[in-house]
Amino acid sequence: MTKALTAIVTGSTSGIGLGIATAFAAQGVNLVLNGFGDRAEIDSIRAALEDKYGVKAVYDDADMTKPEEIRAMVARAERELGQIDVLVNNAGIQHVAPVEEFPEEKWNAILAINLSAAFHATKAVFAGMKSRKFGRIINIASAHGLVASPFKSAYVAAKHGVVGFTKAIALEGAEFGVTANAICPGYVKTPLVEKQIPDQAKARGMSEADVIQKVILEAQPTKQFVTVEQVGALAVFLTTAAAAQITGAALQIDGGWVAK
Ligand code: NAD
Repeated sequence: MTKALTAIVTGSTSGIGLGIATAFAAQGVNLVLNGFGDRAEIDSIRAALEDKYGVKAVYDDADMTKPEEIRAMVARAERELGQIDVLVNNAGIQHVAPVEEFPEEKWNAILAINLSAAFHATKAVFAGMKSRKFGRIINIASAHGLVASPFKSAYVAAKHGVVGFTKAIALEGAEFGVTANAICPGYVKTPLVEKQIPDQAKARGMSEADVIQKVILEAQPTKQFVTVEQVGALAVFLTTAAAAQITGAALQIDGGWVAK
């Protein structure tokens, strides 16, 4: 029997990260869950993954703005799961404002969580992956890692940075069986996006259905949301032997958004 893989998925208490963690667990991958939220709820998610899929799932509350907490999470993961084969840098936040009004603390937080955290976590796992001649770094960037929208200066800068960081790491890992790829989703209906729909409907005097079609999904030619299951399946594929030669890629999963 081949040994089960182990993965850290940052920001996996909700949305895309939880979708990826669930898809990994379904493949027998042992996990470190991370992110904020209600402790009882997180523990029931963790226990449900263990019960349903027979994997080990540990939760670590590392704050991705704090390099020392990121390093401690990786050290704990190595202690409790043996080694880290897959790192998914997913935790992320957003803030929307014109650049001349953009709060400096939001700029700093977005850069720290969406970009610098990927560096700190990758730095902590990389030597082990290289020495074992196997590793998968999966960075959850965005369509905004490839194209821009107004009023999202920090997010677009951070996500373009993630795509560049991914390429550099891909080159460094290339001869050691370590791949690095960025997944670039379009709109995914996570709790974060869902929460905006009634607010936008109110602000614009539109129905929620119109907000979805004419505001949010205007960017996506398919006029459909990407699902967390679809992003999870792509992440799983990147861990397989079939994906061993995919590295340094920015993989769009965006209903055709950046093809326009
Ligand atoms: P979400 O808000 O549902 O989940 C974000 C996760 O990150 C949560 O688990 C949250 O607790 C965690 N998090 C936030 N700040 C943290 C911190 N300081 N330390 C540790 N964890 C922290 O959002 P989502 O939509 O699932 O987004 C996940 C990733 O996907 C982000 O990087 C986001 O930029 C990216 N993305 C989302 C979409 C979309 O449409 N939802 C599209 C493209 C890319």
